[in-house]
This record gives sequence, C-alpha cells and structure tokens, in this order.
Amino acid sequence: MNLEHLKTDILILGAGGAGLFAALHAFKANPDLDITIVSKGLLGKCGCTRMVQGGYNVALNPGDSVERHFMDTIEGGKWLPHQELAWTLVATAIERVRELENEIGCFFDRNPDGTLHGKAFAGQTFDRTVHKGDLTGIEIINRLMEQVWARPKIRRLEEHRAVALVPATDGGLAGVLLIDVRTGEFRFVAAQAVLLATGGGPTMYRYHTPSGDKSMDGLAMALRFGLPLRDMEMVQFHPTGLLAGPDTRMTGTVLEEGLRGVGGYLLNGAMQRFMGDYDQKLERATRDVVSRAIYAEMKAGRTTENGGVYIAMGHLGPANVAKQFKGMVDRCRDCGFDLAGGLVEVVPTAHYFMGGVICEVDTATECFGLFVAGEDASGMHGANRLGGNGVANSTVFGGIAGDVMPRWIAAKTPGHRPPDPHALDAELARALHPFTCKPGNLNELREKLLDTMWDEVGVVRDRASIERGIAGIDRIEAELLATGVSDPDPHFNLTWHDWLNLRSLCELSRVIALAALKRENSRGAHFRSDFPEPGDLATSTFTVARQSASGIEIGERPVVFTRVKPGETILCDQIAAE
Ligand SMILES: Cc1cc2nc3c(=O)[nH]c(=O)nc-3n(C[C@H](O)[C@H](O)[C@H](O)COP(=O)(O)OP(=O)(O)OC[C@H]3O[C@@H](n4cnc5c(N)ncnc54)[C@H](O)[C@@H]3O)c2cc1C
Repeated sequence: MNLEHLKTDILILGAGGAGLFAALHAFKANPDLDITIVSKGLLGKCGCTRMVQGGYNVALNPGDSVERHFMDTIEGGKWLPHQELAWTLVATAIERVRELENEIGCFFDRNPDGTLHGKAFAGQTFDRTVHKGDLTGIEIINRLMEQVWARPKIRRLEEHRAVALVPATDGGLAGVLLIDVRTGEFRFVAAQAVLLATGGGPTMYRYHTPSGDKSMDGLAMALRFGLPLRDMEMVQFHPTGLLAGPDTRMTGTVLEEGLRGVGGYLLNGAMQRFMGDYDQKLERATRDVVSRAIYAEMKAGRTTENGGVYIAMGHLGPANVAKQFKGMVDRCRDCGFDLAGGLVEVVPTAHYFMGGVICEVDTATECFGLFVAGEDASGMHGANRLGGNGVANSTVFGGIAGDVMPRWIAAKTPGHRPPDPHALDAELARALHPFTCKPGNLNELREKLLDTMWDEVGVVRDRASIERGIAGIDRIEAELLATGVSDPDPHFNLTWHDWLNLRSLCELSRVIALAALKRENSRGAHFRSDFPEPGDLATSTFTVARQSASGIEIGERPVVFTRVKPGETILCDQIAAE
C-alpha cells in the first residue's frame, strides 16, 4: 500500500456549488495560495448542485424583500433556524446571483422587461425562485466548472475520495486522507485550511434523490473527528419523487416543486384530489406537509398500482407544461410517462439534509483549520429547507468560506501541522478493513438499510419505530463489518467504495435515529406520531449530536432568537396592519 504525501494551503473537499465557489473566491482573494479541490466524481459531473431543477431563491423584485425571504425561511424552518445564518443566506443571495450572472456567466430566464423571472415555490409568500427553465443546476455548475478550468493554478484531484480528517500531533486538523479511486492509492494532503463541502445527501432511504456519489461521507468524517452536529433528525422528504418501478435508478428522482407551484394536482389511487383533507394551501403547502399527506394516503391503501399517488398536469395544457418543464417532461417520457398530458406516479423521496456540522456565520467550525459550507453545514434551514434555498445556501456560504480562509491563514499563520501518525495509521486500516473479511452480499445489506430507514425513521416516526430502526442499523453495521469485498485489486474497485459508502450511511443513520428519538415533538420534516404537536415555540431547542469514546451523545440547546421571536415579524407592512 502506497501513501503519497502532498501539501496545499487550502484544501476543498467537494466540487458542488459550495466547493467551486469557495475555490474561485479563495483564488480571487489571494492567487498566490495553493488551492486544491478534491471531488469524489468528475468536476462538473458530480454532486447535487448539477441536479438543481427548480431554481435559486433570491429577493430581487421590488415587491419582495430580504426581510420577507427571511421570515419565510424562519417560519418554514419552524423557528429552529440559526437566525444569523438564515439572515446571511437571504441577504447575500442577492449579491451571489448578480455574481453568477455577471462574473460567472450564467443566464437565467427573464421577464419581458428584462428582469429575472421568479417562479412560484411552495411555502413562500413571493415568487422569488430564479431559474434557467427546469435545468438551473446544469447552468450553474457548467459555468462554475469553466471558471475553475480557466484558472489552471487551482489544482484538481478528481475521482478522489476523502476518507478521514486527520488530527495534528498538537491538536487541530493536519489534513485529509484520500483514496485515488482510479488507482486505489492513498494520498495524505496536509493543508493550512480545509473546507468540508461534500454535500450531505441522505441516500440511506428506500426512495432518495441525491446523486450516487453522495453518502454522507463528510458528516461521517466530522462525527468521527468529534465535531458537534446539529438538527440531525431533520431529513427533508420531497413529496414528488418519480415512482418508475424497482428496476431503475430513476425511481426516487425528483419531479420539481414548480409543478405544484403552477397548479399541478395530486390524486390518490381512487383518482381523488386529496390535499384539501390535509392543508388549506392544497398542493402548495410546504414539502413536509405534502409528504405526510401522501404518506397517509399510502398507509390508508389509497395508492396507485406501484404504491404511490399521481401528479396530474394536463389540466394546465399539455403544450404549456411541455414548454415550461421541458427537462422533466423529457425525463418522464424516457421512463414511459406522459407528464404533460397524463398521470405520473410519485412518492415522497429523501431529498435534502438540514442537519450538519455546527458553524459560525463565517463558516468556521470549532476545529482549528476546518471550515464547512453547503449541505454539510447546519442551522440555516432549521426543521425545513424552502425549495430554492439549497443552492442559495451552497453558493452563498461557499463564497464566504473562500473569502474567509485566505484571511484566516494570513492572520493565524497556522502553517502545515504534522499529522498524528497513530491516527493516520488507524484511518488507513479502517479504510482497508473490507479487504480483511470474507466477501459477502453488500447489495443485500444496502437494501436492508434502505428499507429500515424508510419504514422506521422516515416520513412519520414514533418511539417504537425508531428503536426498531436503531436495532436494525446496529445489525446491518455489524454484518457489514464482517463482510468483505471479493476483488483484492484496489484499482477502480467500486465494490470497495460501495462498502465505504455503506459504512458512512450506517453511521449517519444511527445519528439520525438517535436525534429523532431525542426530539419529542414534531417540527417541519421531523414528525413523531407519538408527539404530534410542535411544542412551545418560545422555548425551542435544537439537537446536538457528538461522538465520544463512550458513544454518540445527543444533547439539546436553546434556539436564540437574535432577530425575531415566535409570534412576531420583522415585516413593516404586517406590523402596520396589526
Ligand atoms: C434532484 C435535486 C434537485 C434539487 N433541486 C434544487 C432546487 O431546485 N433548488 C435548490 O435550492 N436546491 C435544490 N436541490 C438541493 C441542492 O442541489 C443542494 O442543496 C446543493 O446543490 C448542495 O450543494 P453542495 O455544494 O453542498 O453539494 P453538492 O453539489 O452535492 O456537491 C458535493 C460534492 O462533494 C463531493 N463528495 C462527496 N463525498 C465526497 C468524498 N468523500 N470525498 C470527496 N468529495 C466528495 C461530490 O462528488 C460533489 O463534488 C436539489 C437537489 C437534488 C438532489
């Protein structure tokens, strides 16, 4: 086994909106620094930013305001967001969208008067979701990728998997251990500053939307490093994942919220429009509400042939739908469905992870030298992410991390710290573990985990189901640790990487379940049928998970309402009306 040692000043883990923005900003701040981007996949082809369909929330229209966007974010997040992070998100989104258009080269759809078009997204009081048709992520990530290519000094380690944050001998972070997926060789990269931007990705559920390269690796590394993780029970289910049968990876992929935003209907297996039974906002209720309504229809047996419900768009005019949602109509056609004029089967699908590493507004974590941005970070969304706030979050905080890290290096002069050799050896042994066991059926274990999380810690949970879930996860992880991979050749050994993915997913599944057990109320994406009420908003708490030698501990901390308290608003027109 070879271990190559490299050095860089700024090491960025992840090449989504957060990672690429961080690299470009850091380069602009100080082009003399050595910057390295690591990505598990190929640049521009991996992660979820590329998959963004709907768009980017930003308050640009004179009828809208940062305050309104902020209030939607706080109320949508059920009063759990960290208000300074949420404010930074909505306020900086304006500058970031201008930057995307004027410096990065994106073109978003426009109104006839030349202003940016904002589409309707659920749970928002203004149509503020800027987009490029329904293929917004491809526009953003392609242009970001070109900008990175145009700066050859930014080093790229593509198809490199980060496996461990490695401590320095004197504490703090020394660097990161990577596997070059192509050769199977290990690289340790020592860095002055590291950005964790691997994009979360709750792919441990039967139905899920994130890209295949995402398996919560970043959060698994952070957990093992002893960092505190916030809101880990908060897994967002998107109500309308495509249900295309068990034999295709297309099952679970998202049919975007804009479909419901423009007036799409949801029908159960008896062809009844059912959302009126659950919420007066009907199909435009927030994702958590619509997901639970669909789940309730499923539990009541009022399902379609494949066990979901239908989305119907035909009443809006098939030609109109085909024009407005070209990407999705084409994708559904590829799977044999007519989205524009017919019925498409859908099911709630795990989409986004609101939980993540606790960080400051400037993206710093409690670990010296480690920063975090994008879906790996937590606090911006609380119990529920608004559709359109995900890519805004990644690009806003990725850019901030890119501004901050060069300044931090200049101020703190951390230099390169030597890695703790014992920790490095232990991490190498951990990554090689599957080569030391008898081969077995990994896919069967993965399937078991998908079902366990969907059935026991999914859209609706209670104490008994969560406890069953934890016992199931323990069994699956124990089996995994006794299961090896058959091919000893590490070159492009995807079974090895499946194994590592599954280990990260098991570890984070347990944390999700434990945090879900701790929260004995129902907020946003977290719904406990044994505690269906939200609890007192004024004394809201958020969960904090941390791994120590004795296991995973889940604590609670009070939410600090730095800008607005439950029951109040910062909107002047509403204050005047009261
Ligand atoms: C289908 C879909 C549609 C969506 N639509 C919208 C939308 O309309 N609007 C919106 O706001 N949000 C949307 N989102 C959410 C949005 O995509 C994410 O919030 C955001 O893009 C995350 O950005 P990121 O930079 O944090 O992570 P990503 O863009 O996911 O990038 C993660 C990067 O980390 C890399 N990585 C992962 N693990 C490792 C590892 N171990 N080592 C090295 N690299 C690693 C990946 O390869 C990738 O490069 C959607 C998500 C999906 C899945």
